[in-house]
Amino acid sequence: MERAFPPVRWIPADDANHTVSDRPRAHPVDFVVVHVTEETFADTRRIFQDPRAKVSAHYLVGSADGRVAQFVREKDIAWHAGNWDYNTRSIGIEHEGWPDRPEYFTDALYDASARLAAAVCHRYGIPVTRDRVIGHSEVPGATHTDPGPHWDWDRYLDLVSRQLICAGQSRTQGEAHMADIDIETRKAEARKAFDRFDVNGDGFITAAEYKSVMAQLGDFNVTETVAQALINKKDGNADGVLSFDEFWASLNH
Ligand SMILES: [Zn+2]
Repeated sequence: MERAFPPVRWIPADDANHTVSDRPRAHPVDFVVVHVTEETFADTRRIFQDPRAKVSAHYLVGSADGRVAQFVREKDIAWHAGNWDYNTRSIGIEHEGWPDRPEYFTDALYDASARLAAAVCHRYGIPVTRDRVIGHSEVPGATHTDPGPHWDWDRYLDLVSRQLICAGQSRTQGEAHMADIDIETRKAEARKAFDRFDVNGDGFITAAEYKSVMAQLGDFNVTETVAQALINKKDGNADGVLSFDEFWASLNH
């Protein structure tokens, strides 16, 4: 099965377009609100970055390729639902397209959005049901009609449910404390860094390996003693060498 977490690009919205908060401590996160932009990806990005717009969403999914951008941290309140109570308690996902142009709702868009929504539902314990994963038009008092009649809710909830199973399997306790963007990408990068230090590929970084890689990188101040001290700081089980899990844990304090 595919990874539950799509790669996410961080493109911050203007500070004037959202409210800093401390969710889920300040407010529970109870809903995912599904939107359709009625703008292109590029124009939506411009709008979220325009301080006069007074509008934002946490995420935007591209139509053609399912690329995902994050504009507002999940801990913060995006201005997308047109209802303050729902804004405080939801994550807003925008989809590039128009409600009356179903050709914009591509497989790539559904898949990427479902992975994203599954990660959100998993993080906050939101049930994957139609009263919690809702359309903008279903927000009380809504004046918008998105995502509209062409949005395939059965398909979407089915995809989210499937991805939620992946999300449950791929997350560990340590990861649960991390920021919400791009955990899998970071872990892959950490793995690359680890592999560079693990010169002989035995799954552990020794002080000698650490020292030799630092020397290759131009840092000759890292003697074996210094390297050992650095390793000891991250060495959870005190065996004198660094496993990937220890390395990863040290990056996530
Ligand atoms: Zn909307």
